Amino acid sequence: MARGKFIVGTNFKMNGSRAFLQDLVENLNRADLDSNVEIFISPPSVHINHVRQNLRKDIAVGGQNCFWKSSGAYTGEISAEMLKDAGAEYVILGHTERRTLFKESDSHIGLKVASALAAGLKVIACIGETLSERESNTTLQVLFRQLQAIVDHIQDLNQEEKWKDVVIAYEPVWAIGTGRVATPKQAQEVHAAIRRRVEETVEGSVAEGMRIIYGGSVNLGNARQLAREKDVDGLFVGGASLKPEFVEICNVLR
Ligand code: PGA
Repeated sequence: MARGKFIVGTNFKMNGSRAFLQDLVENLNRADLDSNVEIFISPPSVHINHVRQNLRKDIAVGGQNCFWKSSGAYTGEISAEMLKDAGAEYVILGHTERRTLFKESDSHIGLKVASALAAGLKVIACIGETLSERESNTTLQVLFRQLQAIVDHIQDLNQEEKWKDVVIAYEPVWAIGTGRVATPKQAQEVHAAIRRRVEETVEGSVAEGMRIIYGGSVNLGNARQLAREKDVDGLFVGGASLKPEFVEICNVLR
């Protein structure tokens, strides 16, 4: 499985009015962007349709979460099919804020990943350790446990077909929104370990082709160094994606 393009994605979280997003869309529409980079933006779900209709077509739109059932009596939830229908191509799943604030377990996330892939969405599957887990040297144990739940839930799906739509986002919890970014060396070590683990638990060709992106306090000042690392196949940007510098982060390979 060939590795896809370098990918830069956003997580707007619960931010952005329609007017704010319209400005942001117009800014991206005007920008000179590197065609060697795949870009997606993830507005709050109520704005996906508006953003999709107004945004240039070489940038994909993503949701920030979805439920694992396609329809039914699940008040307040949105299915993968609905995201797709609204124009989303991606969905972010397993973000630490979902895991901690909304009590999503590893297996909930596995179910969500499977349902999103079955609906034809591409998945940004987030995994990450807390500071205390890092300090107690359990980083890889935690990441592998989170990863295994995803592997287990999608093992029935056709391997290469499905895995090509999965992007793993390594997001150390201690780096999210804190301004404390992982060093390029820390990111590279973890990404390489994740790739080895996928090789062991899934398949060599899937591991080789898998894109593993880094998220957690990415900004213009640290993006280039992170992007240089061999196993860093993209960047996942929260706070800085709401600022004009996002365009320059997208052009980090230039
Ligand atoms: P941040 O957020 O870039 O603001 O640290 C990243 C994320 O939550 O995905």
